[in-house]
Amino acid sequence: MRTRFPPSPTGLLHVGALRTALFAWLVARKTKGTFILRIEDTDQAREMAGATENIIRTLVAVGLKPDEGVHLDQNGEICERGPFGPYHQSDRLDLYRQYADQLLAGGQAYPCFCTAERLDLMRKDQEKRRQAPMYDRTCCNLSPEEVKNRIEAGEKHVIRLKVPREEIIVYDDLIYGSLTFKGHTVDDQVLLKSDGFPTYHLAHVVDDHLMKVDLVNRGEEWLSSLPKHLILFKFLGWTPPQYAHMPLILNPDRTKLSKRKNSVAVTDYLAKGYLPEALLNFLALLGWNPGTEQELFSLNELIEAFSLERVQKAGAVFDLQKLDWLQGQWMRKIPPQEFVSRIKPLVVEKFPAAGTDPKFLERASLIQERITFFPEAPDMLSYFYEIPNVSLDLIANPKQKIAREDVPKILAMIHEALSGVSDADWSQTAITTALESLIASSGMKKGQILWPLRAALTGREYSPGAYEVATLLGKEETIRRLAAVA
Ligand code: GLU
Repeated sequence: MRTRFPPSPTGLLHVGALRTALFAWLVARKTKGTFILRIEDTDQAREMAGATENIIRTLVAVGLKPDEGVHLDQNGEICERGPFGPYHQSDRLDLYRQYADQLLAGGQAYPCFCTAERLDLMRKDQEKRRQAPMYDRTCCNLSPEEVKNRIEAGEKHVIRLKVPREEIIVYDDLIYGSLTFKGHTVDDQVLLKSDGFPTYHLAHVVDDHLMKVDLVNRGEEWLSSLPKHLILFKFLGWTPPQYAHMPLILNPDRTKLSKRKNSVAVTDYLAKGYLPEALLNFLALLGWNPGTEQELFSLNELIEAFSLERVQKAGAVFDLQKLDWLQGQWMRKIPPQEFVSRIKPLVVEKFPAAGTDPKFLERASLIQERITFFPEAPDMLSYFYEIPNVSLDLIANPKQKIAREDVPKILAMIHEALSGVSDADWSQTAITTALESLIASSGMKKGQILWPLRAALTGREYSPGAYEVATLLGKEETIRRLAAVA
């Protein structure tokens, strides 16, 4: 299938748009088809400098590289490839004009000279009467001579679609199912603006037809405009593509996902350290489910499992906790060597000694099970490179049944037990044996020994286990830290 992603370059790539792009990309991959990137830059007032580059870079960064259409060359310049260009709508104005003229000639569209002021009054009046806002067709009834004269006099005008009022439009949306629209409820949509630029409605119909697009999956906000698009396809004598309207993405309070409540730019998530794998996995599950218990999906697994039939209509909640959970899962899946090479520069920047640390790999591997974002690594490994601040309040822990007054005694016992392990024997097994026999002989609980040891070595409530930390800290430093607190 030929699928497409046609963003308007009015801002940074939005997470909702990335989900739409992902679904289009998945269908293209699954069907061994083509994923097209088209830039819908017909609203030049809202255009943002750098938006197209951001969109392309972000798609490439997460692994959804377009096969056809707009891309960046080696120098980072925007360029195009593919047999159905141009792929920027602003370079296709003649085409839209040509089809608008064809509709005019067929009596399927008409010029409208109404001013913004008049349309505004009309709308207010409709509001007062509690009528749906809709163009009142004043200009549809002008005589051909009047139209001719006004155009020749250079009067500003737009071109509107002449919706057949009696028409019943029936369509089977791939997600919303069977839909019926009545012609008299459909507005005579502006197709071409007075500046010669098309609206989305005309432009995407022309482009999707000429670019031989098979599937249009787009935000559900376009659902109500679908009848206009179907009428256009009919008037132009073309078969429409398959439409699939994507469910809304909601904040946890079920309002529409908005900038005010959540970050919406994909770049923000990548900059925070979310892995593309986690982000795409998360977005795939926004509205789609595999019908099984599986939650972790690589892109390849998604290609295998994805189908539009399993996309729901109901809005999907953007649950950041779920995203963080997936992020953690994907962090664990990184091969250890790669994990270490990703965090090393960050740790070295904060602790230069880490740069020549022969134990770096082992120390770094300890945190892979717990970390959520790469930038947390320096802090999570800090106690290997600086003496931690250890408070007695941390060591005394009611949950572990450790009373404050017992702390010196417990630390002294640990100190003694570990001093008995020789330098040459210092290993996780030897440390474990020594401490287990201490636990047995003292009659204390495991936590009453392991918690104080871990707290004394790391100064933290959460860290890898006491045995691992002591092993990788080395005997001398472990003994020194125990003595320092006691
Ligand atoms: N430019 C439109 C948008 O960004 C595209 C919608 C579509 O996929 O057709 O919403």
